[in-house]
Amino acid sequence: MEGSLKPMDAEQLRECAHKMVDFVADYYKNIENFPVLSQVQPGYLRELLPDSAPTHPESLQDVLNDVQAKILPGVTHWQSPDYFAYFPSNSSIAGFLGEMLSAGINMVGFSWITSPAATELEMIVLDWLAKALKLPDEFLSTGKGGGVIQGTACEAVLVVLLAARDRVLRKVGKDAVGKLVVYSSDQTHSALQKACQIGGIHPENCQVLETDPSTDHALAPESLSQAISQDIASGLIPFFLCATVGTTSSTAVDPLLALGNITKTNGMWFHVDAAYAGSACICPEFRHYIDGVEEADSFNMNAHKWFLTNFDCSALWIKDRSALIQSLSTNPEFLKNKASEGNTVVDYKDWQIPLGRRFRCVI
Ligand SMILES: *Cc1c(COP(=O)(O)O)cnc(C)c1O
Repeated sequence: MEGSLKPMDAEQLRECAHKMVDFVADYYKNIENFPVLSQVQPGYLRELLPDSAPTHPESLQDVLNDVQAKILPGVTHWQSPDYFAYFPSNSSIAGFLGEMLSAGINMVGFSWITSPAATELEMIVLDWLAKALKLPDEFLSTGKGGGVIQGTACEAVLVVLLAARDRVLRKVGKDAVGKLVVYSSDQTHSALQKACQIGGIHPENCQVLETDPSTDHALAPESLSQAISQDIASGLIPFFLCATVGTTSSTAVDPLLALGNITKTNGMWFHVDAAYAGSACICPEFRHYIDGVEEADSFNMNAHKWFLTNFDCSALWIKDRSALIQSLSTNPEFLKNKASEGNTVVDYKDWQIPLGRRFRCVI
């Protein structure tokens, strides 16, 4: 058809992909020879590259030679067996192949109609994963809940904070936004602080509760209860608690059941951030760390940390998907379609911040 770009040439793709996979395989073969931490100085790359984009094509081999000589020295090798910084972020052959498939098909699955397989596979795989974690059935997509892949835990906590904020504001009125209070511990990830900044929560209403080394820095239910009572007495509105299973800095595990009971009594949203440690809880011997997750409204774990999955892939489950959709849904004319009309399909665009989304559930 005139005007349509020619798709990739199949034979050329086959040849180039072979070369590229060889390059990556050699990278893994030799990965232990690199210093784990890149040794370059800031700005190193500008000296090695031309001032403007090349105007003539180069062979793939030339490009790969450049990657070897100019890019690899500037890589910190997260996949090295000698890497122990920040958090584990290990890939796997399965993860790599999933990325290849996703890149190859390159579909954009923001509404069901834009690629039914992307939406349906994501719902099914996240239900499988929820079952592997023994999450309560309310988190499954077969009921009122469901799972969705976010890019990162930061996005996960942001979208549930927005859902929780809007849920409470529907009750108490929009003008009360300055009275809303969020609770966390001094071990909670800065993802929550960022979500509060974006979500318009007054900085003074972000209650960071102190923890104690004698309880391995777990958030004490009594200090949550106390803070909530004080805030209510001051005319504020407690609405959100973020508890953590495996804090990033201290691996603290907050007592989900006791904390969850307090949030229920006070009509608050209870989010559990298990970004780091969540995948370990699939193992029966570690599942007890998320005991009490039954009380949570939302639960998140990063498959890209400890689940042999390529970055980025953060799994979020929510019990009441309508709360997310009410906060994040838009329906402009150009996105309307028959399938979405009857509310019978999931349109993941309404579960996340961006519109576009890639085919991530094969990773
Ligand atoms: C890593 C981590 C996060 C943030 O993860 P991103 O996916 O990079 O946003 C949040 N919470 C905990 C407990 C983490 O370990």
